[in-house]
Amino acid sequence: MKAARLHGAHDIRVDTVSDPGVVGPGDVLIRVGAVGICGSDLHMYVDGRIGDTTFDSPLILGHEFMGEILAVGDGAVGGHHQPLSVGQRVAVDPATPCMRCEVCEMGHPNLCPNHTFYGVYPTHGALCECMIVHGHNCFPIPDSISDGAGTLLETLGVAIHAVDLGHLRVADSVAVIGCGPVGLLILRLAKLAGSTPVYAFDKLPWRIEKARESGATAWNVDEVDPVAVLHEATGGRGVDVVFEAAWADHSVQMAADMARVGGRLVLVGIPGDDQLHMRHGTARRKGLSIIMARRMKHTYPRAIKLATSSAIELDDLVSHHVTLDDVPRAFEMNSRYEDNVLKIIVDIAPA
Ligand SMILES: [Zn+2]
Ligand SMILES: [Zn+2]
Repeated sequence: MKAARLHGAHDIRVDTVSDPGVVGPGDVLIRVGAVGICGSDLHMYVDGRIGDTTFDSPLILGHEFMGEILAVGDGAVGGHHQPLSVGQRVAVDPATPCMRCEVCEMGHPNLCPNHTFYGVYPTHGALCECMIVHGHNCFPIPDSISDGAGTLLETLGVAIHAVDLGHLRVADSVAVIGCGPVGLLILRLAKLAGSTPVYAFDKLPWRIEKARESGATAWNVDEVDPVAVLHEATGGRGVDVVFEAAWADHSVQMAADMARVGGRLVLVGIPGDDQLHMRHGTARRKGLSIIMARRMKHTYPRAIKLATSSAIELDDLVSHHVTLDDVPRAFEMNSRYEDNVLKIIVDIAPA
């Protein structure tokens, strides 16, 4: 079968690889329907690593994905603990925690030190035609959720977890720094949770426009002093909760400057240089609560409910559809932020 494999920084090739083997107990074989390209994939593509995670043989990327079940291994049940069947459309949670370590037992499977993750070395991801996945990672989705939206359930899950960590109360004021798909979904969830007002910041005009369409008061960080406009808008108070969902080093300090005294900071973005930059005095004098978001916790069921009821729109975040053969070009384009790119969906076996 065909697979898009990362060989090194800026080097993705569409290769022929062997088909997946026989489906084992608890697993399912899926025909991959669609895969979203994520900011963390771009980190791997641009830097050849993410944080201290590197790889030493060609890796199939892709962790935001959905597909159709082709074969079911003995006793395979889905994430809802229901038996899975051939022909079902499923969204796949890429994380597989061990569920038997202390951290898992304490209710933090997203922090499991023994976990594997589809698309992160050494586990191959979904930019291929077929793959075997654990049944437990599969969540059946209704036909009303498109293939593209099915891949964005992963992004929505990350945003739900971030909002959970923000402990939003009705009418809390919120700022979101970074209006990529995760930032925009945090913004939409904050609106849905009753936050008001919601402020947003980015430097790409089309993403700022999306933030405005989503109900935020949004500014371009290259055109204003973001901290000054935020303080002017809040009468110098700052906001209750700030979500940092950009990649830029200075955006963490910006987030700290935007929070009110005693406010909360949720850090979701992943900096390219793997460093956190913040003045200690800002955080200390304000007594900020700083929370680092790590992936998500069993958020697919809630993400599916929000998408099915249209409480959260997903399809409008998709800016490009490409084929598996287009993947090398699509990564290059996405890494340069050309053509008003927001979310690229790779359609592998469109329904
Ligand atoms: Zn992702
Ligand atoms: Zn564990």
